[in-house]
Amino acid sequence: MNNPYIINTHSHVNMLKDTNIDSAIKNAQNSRIITIVPSSTAQDIFEVDSFIQKYNDLYGYVGVFPEEAKTFTDKTLNDMESIIRSNHKIIGIGEIGLDYYWDKSFIELQKEIFIKQIQFANQMNLPLNIHCRDAHFDTLDILKKYNKNSTAILHCFSGSLDFAKECIKEGIYIALGGVVTFKNAKKAKEVAQNIPIEYLLLETDDPYLTPVPYRGTENQPAYVSYVAQEIANLRNTTIDFIAAETTKNALKIFPKLSC
Ligand SMILES: [Zn+2]
Repeated sequence: MNNPYIINTHSHVNMLKDTNIDSAIKNAQNSRIITIVPSSTAQDIFEVDSFIQKYNDLYGYVGVFPEEAKTFTDKTLNDMESIIRSNHKIIGIGEIGLDYYWDKSFIELQKEIFIKQIQFANQMNLPLNIHCRDAHFDTLDILKKYNKNSTAILHCFSGSLDFAKECIKEGIYIALGGVVTFKNAKKAKEVAQNIPIEYLLLETDDPYLTPVPYRGTENQPAYVSYVAQEIANLRNTTIDFIAAETTKNALKIFPKLSC
């Protein structure tokens, strides 16, 4: 797409159930939205690889999600590398990271797999799309220690404004999604309002976290515009400004999207 309006940096559009996937993708395309689809398991990387090749304006990340760390084997990095080399639409490593919310029984394994994938991204010179839930300190600590040259994005950012500032000091980008539209999401609104715009990115994380006014129904990539609109309201500016600035940021991280 020559002139994207918004870049949705995290959408599982391949996982939609109540919505027709083709029409959800068309809705996004009609609004000049580019969508990036992460993978989550060692098997899923193959599915995302073939899925994104079927559609224009869809790109992907390969990576193993912390809750799926047990699916990661010695072979996984080789598989990821051959997919990246054969599919130019794979533009990052994700979603990877740490999640202490659901299950704390294999934290050490989560850390080990996170670090391996950071080092792999560094070798491949690709950005990182990071999932971090109830693990803010460890995530930042590992990034500081192990990440040498990959731009990192904290997807669905759930930390405080202070933590956001700490991340930005390290050059980490903050991606916000539908949560920012929720009435009670004080922290997310505060982050959206106050971080430097140079570090802000947009996403949906669909099919989850549907923004207002569609909360309660299935999310989809085009709803990223409601996220942009809410951030515009909070910052007292226009949706066009938020779209243009966040697109500029995303194109800096993912230069391939501009060709
Ligand atoms: Zn996700």
